[in-house]
Amino acid sequence: MSIYEPVIGLEVHLQTKTKSKMFCGCSSNYFGSEPNTRTCPVCLGLPGALPVPNEKAIEHTLKLALALNCSINKKSKFDRKNYFFHDLPKGYQISQYDLPIGYDGWVEIEVRDDSKRIRIKRVHQEEDTAKTINEGENLLIDFNKSGVPLTEIVTKTDFESIEEVIKFAKRMRQIVRYLDVSDADMEKGQMRFELNMSLRKQGEKQLPSYKVEVKNIGSISVLEKVIIREVERQTKILDEGEIPDQETRGLKDMTGETVSQRVKEDSDDYRYFPEPDIPPLEFSDNYISEIRKTIPELPHEKKMRFEEEYGLDGGMAEVLISTKDFADWYEMASEGKKKEQAIDIASWIIGDLKKLMTAKKVSLKKLKIKPVHISKISEMVSSGIISGTTGKQILEESFDTGKDPEIIVKERNLGQIGDKEEIEEVASRIIEKNPKVVSDYKNKNENALKYLVGQVMRETKGRANPKLTEEILKSILE
Ligand code: ZN
Ligand code: MN
Repeated sequence: MSIYEPVIGLEVHLQTKTKSKMFCGCSSNYFGSEPNTRTCPVCLGLPGALPVPNEKAIEHTLKLALALNCSINKKSKFDRKNYFFHDLPKGYQISQYDLPIGYDGWVEIEVRDDSKRIRIKRVHQEEDTAKTINEGENLLIDFNKSGVPLTEIVTKTDFESIEEVIKFAKRMRQIVRYLDVSDADMEKGQMRFELNMSLRKQGEKQLPSYKVEVKNIGSISVLEKVIIREVERQTKILDEGEIPDQETRGLKDMTGETVSQRVKEDSDDYRYFPEPDIPPLEFSDNYISEIRKTIPELPHEKKMRFEEEYGLDGGMAEVLISTKDFADWYEMASEGKKKEQAIDIASWIIGDLKKLMTAKKVSLKKLKIKPVHISKISEMVSSGIISGTTGKQILEESFDTGKDPEIIVKERNLGQIGDKEEIEEVASRIIEKNPKVVSDYKNKNENALKYLVGQVMRETKGRANPKLTEEILKSILE
């Protein structure tokens, strides 16, 4: 057991969904495109080119800031963040400094049956840099990514465990997808993380005197590995009585190993100053409230409501809210149903339906089976019209064909035999054929009755109502 606990803050860079780049008309859909085919004087940083802000990008940032419970700077502006690097030919990045679009928000995450608020320091608008590729001795630069809109989300150092960071990262990805401001496709670099972390002795309250940053983490699993590695590395240094260097580290590979890149610069080093080529931003109350109206119910609230309204446990609710469309699908299936039925419908969806979707590689959008079909199957099974096994078979058939389960049951006469006389007739035959089992039964062997019920079920191809069969067998035998 380590005597240290991590203190972690995160920065998230998110590429939002826009047709064109942040300050020019070039296409922002750069992924996989031929290098340097989506460029113009603005995103190449040529002298004299003038930036014009992308309204849709700003709308996305504002919407996200509101969804993250931020206060909004109704008067906001762009600033130049000055630094020299070959992926930034202007010599500065257009970003926001003292007046970000949103500030002081929070995101709720659930940790071990409890919930915790991770505070959001700021949400601001900026632009991406170009992509650099090392090829032998050459450094190649692809400007297709240069100037793509980025929203930056900065948290306070509120994370105290790896679990909290991972929960937050996943929730964040889910929120931006619910909001439809970004696809957050990490394989395309649409969501990236930067980590700042240090260790303190357990129970200590103040922040450690140093902070290590790790930049450009492109996946949640690598994020997790980096934290594990950093905890190990920093623990070792602290155990030797030293204090880790305040520095920026970069990923060495996907194992989460990092190498020192540079000692940390202060914001002073960037010599931020207001961007003179773009007028300040002003949001009217009316505009803000219009944007607020477009925010749907978000994952955390939806989960709480599902637990309350449908009686689901946390695990089930979490699976169902994984995407907004999946949650909507469940709600269509369980609309107007009592809690007990709604829970049963949820288990059909989470269990059998999801299994089929994975096995047959069918996405929710391509499903032939309708929500109402699942509720019909759930109802037919729970009211005893069909057995659970038959229910599963019908589900698969509906899944493949889109055919109404009720019609399948009728057409193929799959309904359970609830007719007493029909079962009695079969039961008598089975008893006659199995004198040894009958004597076992009379000698109080409990398995004997189960065996006889099984034989009746077999004879009727699983259509006999098992409970009724058991009663009938007992009454004949006594
Ligand atoms: Zn351009
Ligand atoms: Mn940034």
